[in-house]
Amino acid sequence: MNIEFENILNQLDEKEKIEVESNQIDSAIKLIPLLLKRVHPQNVHVLAAIIKQSLLPSICIETNEEIDKLFTQIDKEPNLLFDRNVQHKIEEFTAKRFQRDKQVVIERASDISKLVLLMEEYLNEAISSNGSGTKNVFNIRERIAAIDVNENGIESLTKLQNELVNAAASIEKEMHTVTSKLETGKSKVQELEEKVKTLEEELNRTKSENMRDHLTGLLTRKAFSEEIKRIESSFKRINTQYAVVFFDLDHFKNLNDSYGHECGDVVLSTFGKILNKSVRDHDIVGRYGGEEFIAIIHFNLNRELLQFLKRIKTIVTENSFLYKDKKIKVTFSAGVAIRSSYPSYENTLQKADMLLYQAKEAGRNKIILENGMEI
Ligand code: GH3
Ligand code: MG
Ligand code: MG
Repeated sequence: MNIEFENILNQLDEKEKIEVESNQIDSAIKLIPLLLKRVHPQNVHVLAAIIKQSLLPSICIETNEEIDKLFTQIDKEPNLLFDRNVQHKIEEFTAKRFQRDKQVVIERASDISKLVLLMEEYLNEAISSNGSGTKNVFNIRERIAAIDVNENGIESLTKLQNELVNAAASIEKEMHTVTSKLETGKSKVQELEEKVKTLEEELNRTKSENMRDHLTGLLTRKAFSEEIKRIESSFKRINTQYAVVFFDLDHFKNLNDSYGHECGDVVLSTFGKILNKSVRDHDIVGRYGGEEFIAIIHFNLNRELLQFLKRIKTIVTENSFLYKDKKIKVTFSAGVAIRSSYPSYENTLQKADMLLYQAKEAGRNKIILENGMEI
């Protein structure tokens, strides 16, 4: 083997040396195909550029001066790519590149989740809020805007952030409109409520006015029949004993004719007061019409009922009615029927009316009971 060939062999790398041995290459001519496999420096430039590109982080856009510096050297001396130290550095850069990209992905994900969480908070607040809550949603909007997604220059995330801020702003605007509409509605409702209240009060007043006879203050005939329902149900339930007393003032037409209608009114009013004062709380007295009155008198013993009737008769007959300076004598007739003696209230009323008629027939100034007794 000549010295020249031996020199070439010494310059070969380990792999090439193994190939020389296994293929029994023993001349410079046979060595040519092997050397032709070596990379041309021009191709190394392209390769270097590709490697550099692949080392730069894809997501993290931070530039790396170290990589730039290394590849400026490789540009000048492409064979450095085959230097073990340089290759080792490239390996390090590759590892770093993964690390950096991973970091950016983590940061970006956390930014997105922060934005999403805030937006969720914003919507909850906006849905459950009234006028005073608007301040809260405004604060949340500011917090969304304050997240520093620009730090990494991620365009899409910044765009998302802006969209969220805009969405929040339009929700706020909508809320303002809804709130002011609600407020207008509220005051309208309040206005209506007040009107309803006034009407209700007026109605109640009219109702109670209709319940009471304006002249005597006694129950009107209609109110009396309403009260009868209550009394009847108590009679049917617990058998409360009561009498129906029908009163009619005697010769009242004459009284009007002699003293005037106004005097007649005073007498009616006074007679009403006498009746009202003479009955007990659960008894009722009504003006049935004109100079006719009706009373429901509860009693346990007949004696109690007679006492009541006698008392009325005594008060009316033993006193004079006063009208201006005139003292006027008034009498009345009455019929009395006891509820338990008849199948219904109506029948009892009819009987009392009949007995009153009898009292009139019998000369007036009389109270006649169903057992024929006269007071
Ligand atoms: P009798 O003894 O038969 O009951 O005779 P009377 O005159 O009382 O009966 P009548 O039914 O003939 O007349 C009742 C009178 O009562 C006629 C009517 O002008 C009068 N009257 C009815 N309501 C009122 C009223 O509110 N005020 C006055 N002042 N008089 C009334
Ligand atoms: Mg009459
Ligand atoms: Mg009369």
